Amino acid sequence: MRGLMMDFPLLISTLLKFAAQNHADTEIVSRTVEGPIHRYTYADANRRSKKLAKALGRLGVNMGDRIATLAWNGYRHFEIYFGVSGSGAICHTINPRLFPEQIAYIINHAEDAYIFSDLTFVPLLEGIAGQIPGVKGFVIMTDEANMPKTKLKNALCYERLLAAEDDGYEWPVFDENTASALCYTSGTTGNPKGTLYSHRATVLHSYAVALPDSLHLSAREVAMPVVPMFHVNAWEFPYAAPLAGAKLVFPGPKMDGESLQELIETEGVTVTAGVPTVWMLLLAYLKKSGKRIDSLKRAVIGGSALPGSMIQEFRKYGTAAIHAWGMTECSSIGTVNLPKRKMEGLPEEERLKIEIKQGRPPFGVEFKITGDDGGELPRDGVAFGNLKMRGPWVCSRYFNEEESDVHDADGWFQTGDVATIDPDGYMHLTDRTKDVIKSGGEWISSIELENIAFGHPDVKEAAVISADHPKWGERPLLLAVLNEGANLAKEDLLAFYEGKIAKWCIPNDAIFVEELPHTATGKLLKTKLREDFAGYTFPD
Ligand code: AMP
Repeated sequence: MRGLMMDFPLLISTLLKFAAQNHADTEIVSRTVEGPIHRYTYADANRRSKKLAKALGRLGVNMGDRIATLAWNGYRHFEIYFGVSGSGAICHTINPRLFPEQIAYIINHAEDAYIFSDLTFVPLLEGIAGQIPGVKGFVIMTDEANMPKTKLKNALCYERLLAAEDDGYEWPVFDENTASALCYTSGTTGNPKGTLYSHRATVLHSYAVALPDSLHLSAREVAMPVVPMFHVNAWEFPYAAPLAGAKLVFPGPKMDGESLQELIETEGVTVTAGVPTVWMLLLAYLKKSGKRIDSLKRAVIGGSALPGSMIQEFRKYGTAAIHAWGMTECSSIGTVNLPKRKMEGLPEEERLKIEIKQGRPPFGVEFKITGDDGGELPRDGVAFGNLKMRGPWVCSRYFNEEESDVHDADGWFQTGDVATIDPDGYMHLTDRTKDVIKSGGEWISSIELENIAFGHPDVKEAAVISADHPKWGERPLLLAVLNEGANLAKEDLLAFYEGKIAKWCIPNDAIFVEELPHTATGKLLKTKLREDFAGYTFPD
């Protein structure tokens, strides 16, 4: 017997419609590319997103067409999220930090019909215009006064496009499994692959990330996603904030410590999220300037491992640094690390041991770890193996790819991460499958070694890679960037490991470098480091 409840599709447009009805005057504040701070409300955003949806219809955009964005976090980008997906088209966010050839590849692979671009990225698009003949036109996200002279064919002004429409538009209702957005993986090896989200997956995931043990969004919170809207939908903030009625603050193109501190203070930001590198800049600025971030209760940090020393540093300012893990393929957030009731009274050192783990999944994400033979390993916090997941917001196949080589025979998604899971459900990532160091048959976690180095006061950033060793096969090699003016000998840095990890795991050598290479999403680019140090031999 079927239940007798309404069959009501979960659609992205309903999130904004809800916020406009119930949180009409709640603000959305943006630092604009043009400079000034812009502020308006959910009611305004709903009106303008509808105008955009109408304008798309006039441009001939149909359901399922891909509409790309090259843009920072800001209110116009927010309107595109809803105007495009809400009308049944697919919002394809592109990471502008990728190489231009990769961007052209992605645009052609996705067959984007139109590209919406911030002023910043017009020169980039002009540079690749000859390689993307399928694009019908470009919409520059600015007003007439700031519209640049551009060689791009069919370049339209965003504000002019909206001005020509009224907001007499009803969001269409369609199947909740309809594709809503497209995001390509950063592709450190091979070509980037597209994850195609659905309305249903995004609305369900937004519920999950708004929960208290996730981003803890509510109508009393002020949320500032520093993670870009081109990096896995800014970890769902643009959808989950209207769902919860939280005030939104968009940092625009300025993600330096001073600009972030200023926005946190003036807008009363209570919760934020981003990758560790951004927070290194903020913490360095706070230290130098003596300024505070008193309103900020939570900084959710992921994308790469959150070092324990960063958790401790944030605590000095009264902010909880919360570790999270996720992937493009699971609609962003897959775990968040918040304590259980039984952990609350633990001494600082014990607590920190749990806090550096990647965290627990919300309901909707199911994990298992398997050994190389595919057999499931115990959830004892010790055994580590290949991390697999499944759930209603996990990708089942890549966009426009014939077959999936990332799903196992039972349909579980293989994350490419190596992890432990403890009896409380906390996942701890020990490495990427490709980065783990295999020394004499034992596995050494490069992330653990990096975190220890990062805890040294003279170390600004660290990477550990495997280098060939005649006896052990592979051994860890530490590459470190020192803080300005630091005078540290490599012997002292290696001695810093003693007592913090088993002796046989300590790196065999350390090399100081000027800087480390990163991917377009701020992760260490270890493939490049392995290439650069391919001929390296350890000292005797
Ligand atoms: P992306 O799809 O570009 O966001 O990359 C996903 C990958 O980033 C994951 O499979 C992990 O390898 C890595 N990653 C994400 N969050 C974390 C974290 N908290 N700690 C360590 N690695 C992470």
